[in-house]
Amino acid sequence: MQELQWVLLMHPISTIKYIAQSAYAFWNPEYCKDDEFGRCSICGNYGRFKHGLVVRPESEIAVSCGWDKQFTEEINITNTLKCRYCASKFRVRCAAESMLKYFWKGKIISVAELLNGISEGRIDANWHALETTANDGIFTGLRSVNNVVRSEYFDNIERGRCKDGVRSEDLQDLTFSDNAFDVVIALDVFEHISDPLKAFAEVRRALKPSGVGIITVPLDRRIIKTKTIAKMDSGKIVYLDKQAYHSDPLRKEGAPVFTEFGMDMVDNLSSLGYNASWDIYKTRRTGVEQRVILLKKVTV
Ligand SMILES: [Zn+2]
Repeated sequence: MQELQWVLLMHPISTIKYIAQSAYAFWNPEYCKDDEFGRCSICGNYGRFKHGLVVRPESEIAVSCGWDKQFTEEINITNTLKCRYCASKFRVRCAAESMLKYFWKGKIISVAELLNGISEGRIDANWHALETTANDGIFTGLRSVNNVVRSEYFDNIERGRCKDGVRSEDLQDLTFSDNAFDVVIALDVFEHISDPLKAFAEVRRALKPSGVGIITVPLDRRIIKTKTIAKMDSGKIVYLDKQAYHSDPLRKEGAPVFTEFGMDMVDNLSSLGYNASWDIYKTRRTGVEQRVILLKKVTV
């Protein structure tokens, strides 16, 4: 009780906000219908994950082939449930959890804790990560450490050069030497790559023999077979199916979708020199699934 009094005295604004939110939630059950509570695997804080909307039915750029009401709602859930402290979304927290489990088997529970461990010398100094979505990834917004390279696919910056600490990289032609990283992270990137096979080969080349790729793609479980829906021909996009774009913070017009991945993707990746598997996560209230693909490099 004394502790509660201390919290009320020390954090009057948070307390008022909490009481107001609770009252509003009580008055309007819709307010928190799909919200969740839990510990964030990015910042380590415990709190509310807020449901929101990223794909609106009337949106012109955030459409994809075959998207319907059910899948749109799934995308809205996995791309929100945002942490109130670090704004991370459910999909990104799942990928972070997979990475932490793979390397530290539950001993490290957040990416913030991992970065503290690296800077304090408690984590192996030879552990290196490449994150290819610097603006929307598991290291976004956290402190920078030398062991983590953050990159983006910039249109007008020479590959290998940096802009505001973010390196310009194309997954189809990485500027890194062989066996450079323990982990390469590409979250909702591969559907936008015109030659995904080349990119999967590049990730494999850049991984150390014990390394792992951590990948997410929008995955409608009703779609079994992976389909190429666009390709590049003499520098121009040629659509083989209905045009599809996803919203992109770097491009107003959105990012074109080249591949619609299906449930066969893990089998397909196993033939590309990977031992591929996926971790399956579910939201607690809505039961929506997020799959995180783990690509363990197979060396002959
Ligand atoms: Zn967080």
